[in-house]
Amino acid sequence: MDHALEAELTLSGPAKDPPALTARLNDLAGEALRRTIGSRGEGRLVQARVEGDRVELTLESTGARPHQALLALARRLAEELGRSEKIGVRSFRAPRYRVTFDIDSAPKHPVTLPIPHQLTIEGTRATLTLTDLAEEALRDNWMDRAVLLVQEKVRKQAYEGKEQYWSLLSSSPRREMRFDRDPTEEMIARNWVRSGPTKGKWFLGPTAAHLLKTMGRIARAEVLDPLGFSEVVQPHHDSFDILLRTGHLEGLPMEFYYVTEPKTRDPAAWETFTDLVKITRRVPEEELARLVSPPRAVSCYAQCPTIYWWLSGRTIGLESLPLRIFDGTAISNRYESGGRHGLERVDEFHRLEPVYLGTPEQLLELREALLQRYAHVFDDILELEWRTAWVTPFYLQQSGGVGVEDAKERIKGTIDFEAYLPYRGDREGSEWLEFQNLSIVGEKYTRAFTIRAQKGELWSGCSGIGLERWLTAFLAQKGLDPDGWPAAFRTYAGALPAEVRFL
Ligand code: ATP
Ligand code: ZN
Ligand code: MG
Repeated sequence: MDHALEAELTLSGPAKDPPALTARLNDLAGEALRRTIGSRGEGRLVQARVEGDRVELTLESTGARPHQALLALARRLAEELGRSEKIGVRSFRAPRYRVTFDIDSAPKHPVTLPIPHQLTIEGTRATLTLTDLAEEALRDNWMDRAVLLVQEKVRKQAYEGKEQYWSLLSSSPRREMRFDRDPTEEMIARNWVRSGPTKGKWFLGPTAAHLLKTMGRIARAEVLDPLGFSEVVQPHHDSFDILLRTGHLEGLPMEFYYVTEPKTRDPAAWETFTDLVKITRRVPEEELARLVSPPRAVSCYAQCPTIYWWLSGRTIGLESLPLRIFDGTAISNRYESGGRHGLERVDEFHRLEPVYLGTPEQLLELREALLQRYAHVFDDILELEWRTAWVTPFYLQQSGGVGVEDAKERIKGTIDFEAYLPYRGDREGSEWLEFQNLSIVGEKYTRAFTIRAQKGELWSGCSGIGLERWLTAFLAQKGLDPDGWPAAFRTYAGALPAEVRFL
């Protein structure tokens, strides 16, 4: 059979009649297998042995896996023994649990798992044995998740190197470029911005701040307000629980800034620390590590997860759909490490993130409206040379039907907006800058956070308006001299603040 689960149950006292119990186990197992596997396969009890307070048994099945049957069997056994012999089932575990399943292709490299296991693969058939599974691991479906993980790892290996699916959707007219240098370098030279004081963060002086804020005002006045988006104010720290539900914690743990808390705010506990600071004028790192908790949250990475948390467990009335909200308060933090560059790839950035929930039809209509408003901003106000592309990670295209070639089918997925940066080279050979994006994710997050509509299917999506990226794209094409800026942008910007003169 495909799957074999060897289990050991510990009773709260010795069984009075082991042979009778062994016989009874056959009936109970049959019943449990029928109830949990049903028409999804076949199952049987291949051996059972009772000795004192220990019950050993092996369940095998084809099709569906047998661990749910073990849970049901343990529950029924406890009920029966409780009634007849006043003993219960104290605990159970699985010394070995073997399953077989299909994978998309033969893996290129060995696949590893961080829990005790053996994995053998023949062609596209995998056999995974987990050893020494505790009751909790059986109740928590570790086996199903381990199987999904093996399948995902193999799929990722197959697409190694091919980063993203990318297919052009639209291109703006070609524009005359008024600048060919790196705008950040130029802003540094003019004292508009200063790098630091910590990694990947910038201080924007009055002129740069004014321009960044102008971008925000344009996005609000030209896109969010006309389309009926309302602003919310969300906390700046995201809990692990939220990131577990969105999948960010398994996808991006290497990109977060983690938040720790003092273990206590009793000044006496901090005395060694403060004394050392007074004497050495340094940060006593070891002492500090002793006084703060392990991280329990991260600094905002994207704004939508916490917006989904706000809606979790709620049912949204039909008159509130499509729900259109945005956050412009939480500041995004990402550990970009080697990728950092200028103002366009920073560790701390400012973004407006509209989030929308509604029926698939409502979201498609809203996406069209957003695309139109965005196009108006980039064509008529910023006068950018820009394009859009349909992008989806390769390994995702296989599952869930996103990223398919047929345009009509392109409902779930992401559209990137890219701008040409002359300082990086010519249009064809250089990498354009993704300055914002727009996604529809279907039921992914409404399911994860149990958000429902009063009636019908509820989909969601979000769009990331990165203000540093809008600004860099604009300055890279138009330069820092206001004479070169389009009239509509100059009207929005108004008078620039007086520059601070440094000697
Ligand atoms: P990239 O591929 O450039 O790293 P991303 O795919 O990580 O971008 P998203 O997570 O989709 O970006 O974030 C949405 C938007 O947030 C981006 O389109 C961009 O405007 C902005 N953004 C993301 N990362 C940064 C960053 N490090 N610095 C400035 N803006 C950023
Ligand atoms: Zn989002
Ligand atoms: Mg990124």
